[in-house]
Amino acid sequence: MPAADLADLWLYLTAPVLGMLAAVEAFRFARLGRAWFCAKLIHDDRYRCIHCGHQPGRR
Ligand SMILES: [Zn+2]
Repeated sequence: MPAADLADLWLYLTAPVLGMLAAVEAFRFARLGRAWFCAKLIHDDRYRCIHCGHQPGRR
């Protein structure tokens, strides 16, 4: 991109925001009503999860 040509600058400003919004909607769709939705596949009941707030002894 030449320094003086700003005609396509809108793409660099809007694409990251639209990507973030699409990621939020994809996350909400993938959750599908599950109470716990976390990057960890298995929660150890001895330890609290620092990502989703899962507490030991609770499902
Ligand atoms: Zn978790």
